[in-house]
Amino acid sequence: MLGINSGKSFAKKFEPLEFYGKMLDVEIVEANKIRNGYASVKNGRVLIRVPKHCNMRSKERMVEELYTKISISLKRRPQSFVSNAPLKFYDGEKIAPNGEELVVEVRNSAYKHSSSRVRGGKVIVSIGADKKDISELASKAIARHFEGYIESNVKLWNERFKSELGSIRISRGLTIWGSCSPKNNITINLRLLFIDKKFLDYVVVHELSHTKVRSHSKRFWRIVEKYIPEYRKIRRELKLVGAVIDTEANLQNQAIKPAEVEANQTPEQNVLLNMEKKSAPTGEGQRTLENFS
Ligand SMILES: [Zn+2]
Repeated sequence: MLGINSGKSFAKKFEPLEFYGKMLDVEIVEANKIRNGYASVKNGRVLIRVPKHCNMRSKERMVEELYTKISISLKRRPQSFVSNAPLKFYDGEKIAPNGEELVVEVRNSAYKHSSSRVRGGKVIVSIGADKKDISELASKAIARHFEGYIESNVKLWNERFKSELGSIRISRGLTIWGSCSPKNNITINLRLLFIDKKFLDYVVVHELSHTKVRSHSKRFWRIVEKYIPEYRKIRRELKLVGAVIDTEANLQNQAIKPAEVEANQTPEQNVLLNMEKKSAPTGEGQRTLENFS
């Protein structure tokens, strides 16, 4: 129930926190390359990161403080935690796309080009001289790893639609869950692998329904409903879940040392928001796009 990372060093368990009616597990990660502690809402859970190099006592205190702060902030201003930020991955992070447990492992590579792959239960990110972004590389590897799965899922549903399909791809955009081009090229967003499978099925059925009806007309929704009778509920939930998984708003913990600083500050003063809004990709032609919101 409680997502405490490894449980090796942090004995204390933290209760899940509520965010827009969803209970988020708390995960604690010791990270190598950070100086301060951070708490964020990420991939459907509360993630607390503390610097590995600190001693156990400061780490525990930091975790405690960040947990308190983020619980207050999630109650007072949950909207601060909603944004369309890119998926982020960290060294040592445990992830479970499509329920497959993987650990992100970042290595330094002697090569010029950075690369990434999924192998032996790991997302291996090798950073070369070109110093590419870890999250970007990890996302690419995960997308490649699940390409076949997504393709077979789309094809399985298409046995009922019997449409002529073009390409089936995983997209990594920030605003679109899925799309269907006039040539029935279908894209499905990578983020759907990180949430309940019913959402993936809904998006797949939605896109396949566009192979029959391009617009979002009554006729279109009747087709969706035929395959996913509870689609209205799933659609509503997807908007909330979308908010949860797209989110990374950081709470930075500056008060590692003096506890007095803590007492004089409201938690909001320590909130650093990472809320860069990206606009939807342009040049999509007549593709039918499903937005996150
Ligand atoms: Zn649509």
